[in-house]
Amino acid sequence: MRVVVFLDLDGTVFQTRPKCPPGEPVRPAAYARDGAPLSFMTDRQRAVLDLLGRGTIIPTTARSLDAFRRVDLPFDHAAILDFGGVILTPGGKLDEAWDATIRPQLAATAPDLAAARAVAEAQSARLGLGVTARVITDFDLPLYLVAKHPGGDAAALGPVRDALRPFAADGRFALHLNDNNLSLVPACLGKERAVRHILDTYFAGEPVATLGVGDGFSDAPFLALCDFGMVPRGSQLFGRMRAEG
Ligand SMILES: [Mg+2]
Repeated sequence: MRVVVFLDLDGTVFQTRPKCPPGEPVRPAAYARDGAPLSFMTDRQRAVLDLLGRGTIIPTTARSLDAFRRVDLPFDHAAILDFGGVILTPGGKLDEAWDATIRPQLAATAPDLAAARAVAEAQSARLGLGVTARVITDFDLPLYLVAKHPGGDAAALGPVRDALRPFAADGRFALHLNDNNLSLVPACLGKERAVRHILDTYFAGEPVATLGVGDGFSDAPFLALCDFGMVPRGSQLFGRMRAEG
């Protein structure tokens, strides 16, 4: 039986240099726009990826197409990008059926995302936090709001998260804070919805075993869809698992 592996990328199979374990050999796995290595994989991550590669790996990432293309790892099937806003077919084309489903839903959230961006920027300016916020788009889809501190001061995101809470209060958006990355994600967007679509279309009628691998809270719903879940030690999800265990 085929094993289909839905695999988060950042923080799961590679990470930026400061987050790599000190003293361990690493190799570049993803690059910045200027071509400089930006994310690195340890030998242990490489070994686990090799193991997962015995199955069919479906990258399941928040990365845009542009950022996904800067990942230097061999993937040869479909891919879930943009928190599930975009599915690429095994040939690398936009999955038109998925796009037709999700595009009108995302379009309806665009005014709220613009308003949330204004709120985030006003809070940052008021408190002098230096946080930047932008609405991520890909394939002309308005996707989600992301706020970061350009200097890596993740603590500056707390007050911005507080200001954005009203947008998440009625369930139309989810607010995720993972390290220096605060995102406000429409409820229609979710890796788990794209995982479901892929299982129902690309693997329809084929008995498969599924494995979900991810590090963040936002990965939990798609891990929960899979037969097995796997999380890196020390990750956000790992911490929750231990707390609940
Ligand atoms: Mg991740």
